[in-house]
Amino acid sequence: LDNHKMTTLTIKLLPAENEYPDLSQHHNHMSKVLTLKMYKKLCEHTTSNGFTIDSHPFIMTVGCVAGDEETYEVFKELLDPVIEDRHGGYKPTDKHKTDLNPANLKGGDDLDPKYVLSSRVRTGRSIRGFCLPPHCSRGERRAIEKLSVEALSALTGDLKGKYYALKNMTEAEQQQLIDDHFLFDKPVSPLLLASGMARDWPDARGIWHNDNKTFLVWVNEEDHLRVISMQKGGNMKEVFTRFCTGLTKIEELFKTKGHEFMWNEHLGYILTCPSNLGTGLRGGVHVKLPNLSKHSKFEEVLKRLRLQKRGTGGVDTAAVGGVFDISNADRLGFSEVELVQVVVDGVRLLVEMEKRLEKKQSIDDLIPAQK
Ligand code: ADP
Ligand code: MG
Repeated sequence: LDNHKMTTLTIKLLPAENEYPDLSQHHNHMSKVLTLKMYKKLCEHTTSNGFTIDSHPFIMTVGCVAGDEETYEVFKELLDPVIEDRHGGYKPTDKHKTDLNPANLKGGDDLDPKYVLSSRVRTGRSIRGFCLPPHCSRGERRAIEKLSVEALSALTGDLKGKYYALKNMTEAEQQQLIDDHFLFDKPVSPLLLASGMARDWPDARGIWHNDNKTFLVWVNEEDHLRVISMQKGGNMKEVFTRFCTGLTKIEELFKTKGHEFMWNEHLGYILTCPSNLGTGLRGGVHVKLPNLSKHSKFEEVLKRLRLQKRGTGGVDTAAVGGVFDISNADRLGFSEVELVQVVVDGVRLLVEMEKRLEKKQSIDDLIPAQK
């Protein structure tokens, strides 16, 4: 018996008042929007793949995930306000823009490698016609893996690489790739566990990468595909150029096989987590800011530059030794080039501030206006 399908499709629900989730301890976009009245109405709906508002328990940050492409349509009453809340007032009538031409990025090859230890750009892509990870079957997941490995095997030159299925790795090999920041973590995060994305782990999950691990594709983690370009040092221009070239080639290869990516004019690229809609792009650096991070204006400066911070071990970790993962906070309503530009310009300023503070000088004249 398939546990997941059992719970999502055949549990008989009591009246909506009895089933309405307890959101009192939630601090996320979804809990602000989902009233009992809305729940009563939406619990009657399902997408044609059978995804419902209760298919996933409720998780942090955004608070809900999509089970398929249609989720964003069928549950728009819930998701439109969540998207508006997460993406700075993005309206249901707004149109998203794409720009994957690296020539449009100004500068970005000059971030000081004494401070900027590594640079990275990632996005996700979903293959149209398949359910997303919270709702896909084992068979679908395996089909996505097979398709991806076939498509990626056609990449050549610098981008030529190999696929490593999680199932075929030793524990030590897997841990080494995680520790070196190349591979997604084990399914320990509430996001993956609570939304059903860890089902059948490690079946049909894996990583594809080129020889020097500067271009990598994660298969069947939070999204069907996560495409990553990264390298040591501060040359974000090179990282972004490789990202655009590789991503465009991958899209062409899938098209040749008769598969397109989920995309529409309003939401841009459709991904599992509503926070990643649009570009799905997170461009970031690991950067040493031991002085600035202790300054009382640090948080405010990041907010004004439209940047977010994480620890260097991934989304749920704390910074160690004053090294932070600094990346763009926005995904939707801005193009890929615009978002990477925000990172390049913002990080350049952060490094300048750090150098001032090192010399015990004031940064008052460097505090930026709200972008
Ligand atoms: P994502 O947004 O890609 O899911 P996570 O925060 O989950 O990012 O981190 C995934 C992995 O990528 C972690 O091992 C993290 O350390 C690594 N990573 C993120 N940004 C960088 C960077 N600029 N340089 C090196 N590794 C990075
Ligand atoms: Mg992640």
